[in-house]
Amino acid sequence: MEKDSEAVGFQLNPNFSPKAASPELTMCGGLIERYVAAMLLSAAGDALGYFNGKWEFLQDGEKIHQQLAKLGGLDSIDVARWRVSDDTVMHLATAEALVEAGKVRDLSQLYSLLAKHYQDCMEDMDGRAPGGASMHNAMQLKPDKANGWRIPFNNHEGGCGAAMRAMCIGLRFPHQSQLDTLIKVSIESGRMTHHHPTGYLGALASALFTAYAVNGKPPRQWGKGLMEVLPEAKTYIVQSGYFVEENLQHWSYFQDEWEKYLKLRGILDGKSDPTFPKPFDVKERDEFYTSVSYSGWGGSSGHDAPMIAYDAILAAGVSWKELAHRAFFHGGDSDSTAAIAGCWWGVMYGFEGVSPPNYEKLEYRNRLEEVARALYSLGSKEDNITAL
Ligand code: ADP
Ligand code: MG
Repeated sequence: MEKDSEAVGFQLNPNFSPKAASPELTMCGGLIERYVAAMLLSAAGDALGYFNGKWEFLQDGEKIHQQLAKLGGLDSIDVARWRVSDDTVMHLATAEALVEAGKVRDLSQLYSLLAKHYQDCMEDMDGRAPGGASMHNAMQLKPDKANGWRIPFNNHEGGCGAAMRAMCIGLRFPHQSQLDTLIKVSIESGRMTHHHPTGYLGALASALFTAYAVNGKPPRQWGKGLMEVLPEAKTYIVQSGYFVEENLQHWSYFQDEWEKYLKLRGILDGKSDPTFPKPFDVKERDEFYTSVSYSGWGGSSGHDAPMIAYDAILAAGVSWKELAHRAFFHGGDSDSTAAIAGCWWGVMYGFEGVSPPNYEKLEYRNRLEEVARALYSLGSKEDNITAL
């Protein structure tokens, strides 16, 4: 993933510890355990941010924090009865399609599998508040037909539904040599339901930052990395020859919003440490998340869901609690920002300092663990792609 002189080489071995390469990261556990943590803590974040629908749709972070305190705080939450939402169901769909595809030779075969899993997982959406574009478009896909995974461009498909389910693409294709594949797969998986740059570039950001986390790249460099990868993504869109004009016409919003954000935090150069306003507590964060949003609900679009997750990662360091307070418990689309942030954090820190009741009895725990191990196994090999 690296391009600059601060490159941190990727080493897929079970004892990989990027501690030496980036002293600011305190990482624990082998890489396989961190893959498991990534899948599990993403789902735990989703369940916590969602709270069976109560907190995803409560648009006042201070009220959420008051209720959290009444429950005894984060550490005492046992997620046994906190269901995962659409984010995790669709993240599992992506992950299980990647595993079913195995070693990839023909990308269109992988895309058909992704389409099939996205469609099938809609059976499991009762009580999980699926997004409008995700639900509607997944049902339009025709996984058994050639190109049946493609849908037309749509101006209203900039939601975060593509971003919230794409993190595992970075677990599957983490090598520098796989960057091209990561770009293609995140974009095409994204535009199966969100054919708008603001939507599918969110999927690219989710996948790319996961791969960066696997590689031990310090978070302050991730934003700059994304800015460098966007032109490559644009080239792919042009080469793919599908609704090119519409995509290029709506390209700039995602890029401009990210550039503004990185400038605000002072990290456009990828070298400086981020700066945050003071105070920047629950109320101020809610205001900030609203300010970066498209329509007033922070984190509900493809650009701001990964942005809010990233903002939390930058500030939280190794503290799971701080991450949760910033990315899971706020007045915006909290389960999606949580699912994304939880995944990146898990890749970096494993289960370090996470209260076991936050994930031990999590719904789909076995599926999540199993798919994480399979992704690790596939991610440690190179593919030999010959088609698409
Ligand atoms: P999902 O993306 O999860 O499937 P929706 O389709 O319901 O969910 O959309 C979620 C959000 O996406 C809405 O809050 C809407 O404001 C936002 N959105 C829709 N179109 C765009 C766009 N072109 N750019 C940015 N945000 C958009
Ligand atoms: Mg959800």
